[in-house]
Amino acid sequence: MNTTTIGWIGLGNMGIPMAEQLIKAGYGVKVYNRSKAKETALKQIGATVAATPKTLIAETDVLIIMVSDDAAIEQIFNGENGLFAETVSGKIVINMSTVSPAISKAMAQKCLEKGNRYLDAPVSGSVKQAETGQLVIMVGGEKTAFDEVKPILETMGKLALRVGDSGSGNSAKLAINSLLALYAQGLAETVLFANAQGIKTEDLLNLINNAAVGNIFTKIKGDAITGDNYKAAFALKHIVKDLGLAKAEGLDSPLAQTALSTFQSAASAYGEEDIIAVIKQLKA
Ligand code: NAP
Repeated sequence: MNTTTIGWIGLGNMGIPMAEQLIKAGYGVKVYNRSKAKETALKQIGATVAATPKTLIAETDVLIIMVSDDAAIEQIFNGENGLFAETVSGKIVINMSTVSPAISKAMAQKCLEKGNRYLDAPVSGSVKQAETGQLVIMVGGEKTAFDEVKPILETMGKLALRVGDSGSGNSAKLAINSLLALYAQGLAETVLFANAQGIKTEDLLNLINNAAVGNIFTKIKGDAITGDNYKAAFALKHIVKDLGLAKAEGLDSPLAQTALSTFQSAASAYGEEDIIAVIKQLKA
């Protein structure tokens, strides 16, 4: 049993399996989610529940956040019952959400002023990797804080790497997700082109997955295409958010511009579905 108690905010597609890893590793975990119904799954495996972020930070040693976007982070820190409404010090707050480097820098500074430390620690990998503790975690922030929480991060990931100061984890994540968008659009366009030439999707994917261009992404998303299963592991609306954040950081290359416009139109039709639902938009 680990004596560090962990507070967890955000029980979406990723938050639930990630928090589960901590419970399995023996940590005491207390959760908060805006929609209360999603707390049930964690309660059933031993988590306790806090009424607000404010009470959660007071009652735990390390606080981890996994929510949608900058607006959610604003709410969680600066809301009426948010983290900054509580006057506690000595805590480490780890924000694993994919958000802007700017909001991480601002929250890190404000945490420091209150005697707490903040790390941005977004993840690469999706629900499958979260369920098996195989995420890749990129961290920005103070090295001593990172060293203290590294064992916690390693219960969720196969790699936890500090890449620099506050915000740099977010910058690394935006770079990786730009490539993810290109992979998704590339795979979708390739399948549609092959289909138009009379090649069956199953045959094409069999070839790709045995060739040098195949990878875990083409395998998982290929299965989704052949199974006509577009249930969100990583929702289209989130990749639009990430490409927008990357653009705000200066990414304006030809491929990135094309991907942003493709995924914006795909998300307007299928925003709650998985990233690979882009194939439905490209087909239309
Ligand atoms: P999700 O399923 O959409 O869940 C979002 C979570 O954020 C929910 O717990 C939601 O609460 C909470 N939230 C949203 N707005 C909020 C607000 N204003 N105040 C408080 N809570 C709020 O998202 P996800 O797929 O788990 O992704 C979470 C983050 O990880 C995102 O930044 C995403 O880009 C990133 N990410 C996702 C994947 C993936 O494959 N899914 C992979 C890597 C990184 P409610 O339940 O109340 O709505």
